[in-house]
Amino acid sequence: MTDLILFWHRRDLRLSDNVALAAAREHTSKVVGVFCLDPSILERDDVAPARVTYMVGCLAALQEAYARTGSELLILKGNPVQAIPALAAALSAQAVFWNWDVEPYAQARDEQVRHALKERGIGLHTSWDQLLHAPGEIRTNAGDPYTVYTPFWKNWQKQPKAAPLPTLSDVQGLSDSEREAATAAGAIALPSAQDLGFGWDGDLVLAPGEAAARDRLEAFCESSTREGLWVYDDQRDFPAEPGTSQLSAALKFGAIGIRTVWAAADAALSRSRSEESTNNIRTWQQELAWREFYQHAMYFFPRLAEGPYRREWQDFPWENREDRFQAWCEGRTGYPIVDAAMRQLNEIGWMHNRCRMIVASFLVKDLIIDWRWGEKYFMQKLVDGDLSANNGGWQWSASSGMDPKPLRIFNPASQAQKYDPDAVYIRQWLPELKSLDAADLVSGKILPLVRDRCGYPAPIVDHKVQQQKFKDLYKQQKAQG
Ligand SMILES: Cc1cc2nc3c(=O)[nH]c(=O)nc-3n(C[C@H](O)[C@H](O)[C@H](O)COP(=O)(O)OP(=O)(O)OC[C@H]3O[C@@H](n4cnc5c(N)ncnc54)[C@H](O)[C@@H]3O)c2cc1C
Repeated sequence: MTDLILFWHRRDLRLSDNVALAAAREHTSKVVGVFCLDPSILERDDVAPARVTYMVGCLAALQEAYARTGSELLILKGNPVQAIPALAAALSAQAVFWNWDVEPYAQARDEQVRHALKERGIGLHTSWDQLLHAPGEIRTNAGDPYTVYTPFWKNWQKQPKAAPLPTLSDVQGLSDSEREAATAAGAIALPSAQDLGFGWDGDLVLAPGEAAARDRLEAFCESSTREGLWVYDDQRDFPAEPGTSQLSAALKFGAIGIRTVWAAADAALSRSRSEESTNNIRTWQQELAWREFYQHAMYFFPRLAEGPYRREWQDFPWENREDRFQAWCEGRTGYPIVDAAMRQLNEIGWMHNRCRMIVASFLVKDLIIDWRWGEKYFMQKLVDGDLSANNGGWQWSASSGMDPKPLRIFNPASQAQKYDPDAVYIRQWLPELKSLDAADLVSGKILPLVRDRCGYPAPIVDHKVQQQKFKDLYKQQKAQG
């Protein structure tokens, strides 16, 4: 009888360029996939409907892809610590294969699954897949993990990158009796996001699944158009432009392999005929490195998930006014660029990176609200919500993280002036202000009468006053620390 390997998908919802899955196929021709809907994750209070919808869509696409190979993807619902070993035992699997994750919860869970499999005498094989370089591969000369991005990038970009791996194909699925055993062990039909309690009727910025992610990558890297990757550095900060890849949800759930993404950027580099194009491509590669930097940071410093990296932020005297937080969440602060961005987040579950920085700075340094409130709200809404990247982005914006520059305060009007000078983005997300002059929208200097007429609120704080207050608090805190 052919050995059966159970492949546990987690953040790698694809058949191509998947390290542990390719290893499973090398061992046997009978590879069966499984995904476990884990209540410890789905019942948290920071789960975004858009994200669950995207994930379930990826699972549906993955089931179809498995069916084309001759095998299948089983779905479980329950605690993976019991559910995965029980299914493996019911199928008499020779081993369970999976790819590691950096998150503290995933690591603790995997350790328990590992023990449970060992107790049952079931084999186990694990790999790193979601990163081009696993944690530990990139270290300082002293052998420590990096805590500053630039030297990390310099080292990281010099290291050779692995090529994409072959797509799973020609595999054998379960026999009828094995399928019955899988059902008895808890395998269910894939529920909809709605069934799981996460209704989302908005559009997704990227269609779920491997094929859509690949198409997006190809279109982004397409050189004949001289758009996307080729003008990334010039366009990426302008939220009204389609200047970024919008691949973040695909990268979060592994609908596309990181080696595939890197190879596409590298192929573009080799086609580049100008210094300008090369710089644009390099800048995008640096963003991919930011993703890895934050994941390495989470792996080595899991306490980041709980709070600030820097000591002086441990007991910062936040004002934490609920009414102001609510106004920020709803996009009703009276600052057009901030409100446009929050409405974008609420409506499509995605926000442009420049705007993530603007609204984060505003929450922390204008509203003097604990950055963890914003971090959580983002997780409740983002289709690409990812612990490492989100925490990294928030700690960077709050100046509480590893980045050495302590006081970075964004002025909403200057940001809008620079990055949305014609107020195209502001008008798109604040239709009630559509008819106003761009100059007023960008500066935020809108007369009270006009605000009233448009049903748009007065500014909830004064940027100058709050900025000073924040600086004073920070100074005091530093002096005490
Ligand atoms: C406060 C804040 C919160 C954030 N929360 C998240 C989050 O939950 N999930 C998330 O994926 N990104 C997060 N980011 C980073 C960044 O905003 C998004 O990755 C980016 O906007 C996604 O759009 P894109 O795919 O078009 O990116 P592109 O510009 O095309 O970049 C390509 C890929 O690189 C990665 N990347 C780009 N910028 C960053 C960055 N600064 N940090 C880490 N990875 C990056 C992403 O995987 C992205 O898809 C956050 C940034 C800030 C400032």
